[in-house]
Amino acid sequence: MHQPFVIIVSGPSGVGKTTLCKRVMQLDGNLFYSVSATTRPRREGEVHGKDYYFLSVEQFEEWIEKGKLLEWARVYDNYYGTPLDPVIENFERGKDVIMDIDVQGKRQIERNFRGRVVSVFVLPPSVDELLERLEQRGAETPEQFEKRKKLIMRDLEYRWEYDYWLINDDLDKAVGELYSIIKAERLRGRYMKWQERS
Ligand code: 5GP
Repeated sequence: MHQPFVIIVSGPSGVGKTTLCKRVMQLDGNLFYSVSATTRPRREGEVHGKDYYFLSVEQFEEWIEKGKLLEWARVYDNYYGTPLDPVIENFERGKDVIMDIDVQGKRQIERNFRGRVVSVFVLPPSVDELLERLEQRGAETPEQFEKRKKLIMRDLEYRWEYDYWLINDDLDKAVGELYSIIKAERLRGRYMKWQERS
């Protein structure tokens, strides 16, 4: 048994964070995936309550006022936030909580759960490869492409404040590495519930 902790997974958009989190969830019964709330429109195939809680701006602001969010931020002109209650409930059940959130959220979580956060930054094999992947997703004007490239370059700079870097060049390998990080962290002395006397 260990003291549960939070695993934060961040990285530039399109790098595969969500897939990585979902895959590692299938390997381990002691993990809980934190479903975020957002005001961004639902993408095809996304399910309310599973991928995100899709809220209106009014609903989101009400959640902020009522203290229902552990952290929240504006990312790319939309609100995103982590619901508080599921995190606390799962901690109480002894589960580690994995969340796919941005750097602003990471900083807030680290303040709230000092010493109980492991942060992982996911990197593409190369910037060019990520840009190519994003290009295939949808048609963009050259201006949009340049804007996106700048955002990616900015986001990549945040990697320096993360505990671990994962290069997502092969999904199976990256999932295995993420799981190794989690398993090793569970063995850290500061998370152990070991006592001299039973
Ligand atoms: P997407 O709209 O592509 O699903 O996510 C956009 C960005 O928002 C990603 O960088 C993702 O990590 C971030 N994000 C998703 N949920 C949360 C959240 O609850 N809090 C914060 N701070 N960022 C989030």
